[in-house]
Amino acid sequence: MHLGIKSHLVVSDEEGIALKAYENDGVPFPRDDDGGVEAQRLCREWAARAVFGSSDRFSLHYQYTDTPAGSYFCFTYLEPEPGSHAVTFGVGFDDARLFRGRETENRRVSGCPDHQCCRIPAGSMAGQWSGKVVAPPRAHARIVGLLSPDPFPSIDLAEIYGVVDRHQNSNSPNATARQPTRRKPAPAQTTPRQATRRRATPRQANIGGKASKEKA
Ligand SMILES: [Zn+2]
Repeated sequence: MHLGIKSHLVVSDEEGIALKAYENDGVPFPRDDDGGVEAQRLCREWAARAVFGSSDRFSLHYQYTDTPAGSYFCFTYLEPEPGSHAVTFGVGFDDARLFRGRETENRRVSGCPDHQCCRIPAGSMAGQWSGKVVAPPRAHARIVGLLSPDPFPSIDLAEIYGVVDRHQNSNSPNATARQPTRRKPAPAQTTPRQATRRRATPRQANIGGKASKEKA
């Protein structure tokens, strides 16, 4: 912060789970009830997740992202090893002029933390697949998730239904191209088991919550 530039930094994994995070530029990180960012899933429109779908994923991925808190410019470095982490640094839109890559045409719109942005499946897809797809979360993600409660399902149903939907369409002789409509309002998909998990979650754990809110 010696240059007086407000910024954010986040290290995340391939599933978009934040492992370390810092901000003083107001970027709307997903947070648990105690303000912690670690173990929360980042928006699928953010550079930290978009980089994994990039055609040249091991080059620096530059991106502008419009969020409810304003527009940001970010660049993400993806470690080349399997199971690697994405390291994303970002600044507010006005400070992009100071950084290489500012001319990028990558631009996305994020509605998070509004869960209808990307956290729950679109209504049409949920209606087709709800109750027909079983996707148990990995054990470590579930354990960490218990320590840092996430108000939405611990598995990415929007992603899973999308995969199932594309698979069905590709196998159907009468398939027509269907575009996912993730931004349509959809009812919350909460199972009784998830509701129980939230009630039973201990409140005292806030791994990294203090650090993530620390100001430079
Ligand atoms: Zn989102």
